[in-house]
Amino acid sequence: MTDLEKNLIEVQRRIRTAAESAGRNPDDITLIAVSKTFSAEMLVAAYQLGVRHFGENRVEEAETKIPQVSRQLETIALSNYPTIQLAWHMVGHIQHRKVKDAVKLFDFIHSVDSAALADRLSRRASAEHKAIPVLLQVNISGEASKNGFPRQTLLDSINEILKLSHLDIQGLMTMAPIVPEPDAARPHFRALRELRDELRARFPDLAWQHLSMGMTDDFEAAIAEGATMVRIGRAIFGER
Ligand SMILES: *Cc1c(COP(=O)(O)O)cnc(C)c1O
Repeated sequence: MTDLEKNLIEVQRRIRTAAESAGRNPDDITLIAVSKTFSAEMLVAAYQLGVRHFGENRVEEAETKIPQVSRQLETIALSNYPTIQLAWHMVGHIQHRKVKDAVKLFDFIHSVDSAALADRLSRRASAEHKAIPVLLQVNISGEASKNGFPRQTLLDSINEILKLSHLDIQGLMTMAPIVPEPDAARPHFRALRELRDELRARFPDLAWQHLSMGMTDDFEAAIAEGATMVRIGRAIFGER
């Protein structure tokens, strides 16, 4: 068994255990393998082990890697897989000049971190005649170093954002601060869930179904607080 396979089995086991201890269905949690800095070959190996959701944080890197992975999978698909099914998730900050490329490359954007970016993404998606599934990234801890809407800024601009016709807003995303032990991140995850509940009560036309939270060091705490998507890199692929 390769390290990758061992790691993946262990992460899947930990997700199941965390879900069950929280009285949740493990199938309600999507594992997003955050593959930034890792090679196309590693991603193809992960695909062959069943991974279908990949997360990248830089458009430039995705621009070269996504076509490489697609080409390699097409070769394999001829013999082993009837269709290639995978989803590319953008989890990092998107510069305005990269909006067009991001809309082309990614199936799901977790990192909508300003009203200006939301507007640009919606316009670009409109030009491509599609609606793009997104999450609104919230700086729930308020740390200066973190991207994302400050909570109050999001509440102030949410009416405008919800008018954008080509964004398919599915929920919220956050990154917890680095803390000495994972349970210390729980209040931040809980705060994101409570913000989601508040938005859902005010805007019930949207389902607000996703909470993207939890990484290698804190995903169990995030699952305990309601994460539906966990973004895990190092625990699967190894140290970067
Ligand atoms: C890198 C990254 C992750 C994964 O982090 P690990 O510590 O490797 O699990 C998750 N989310 C975002 C936004 C990232 O940039």
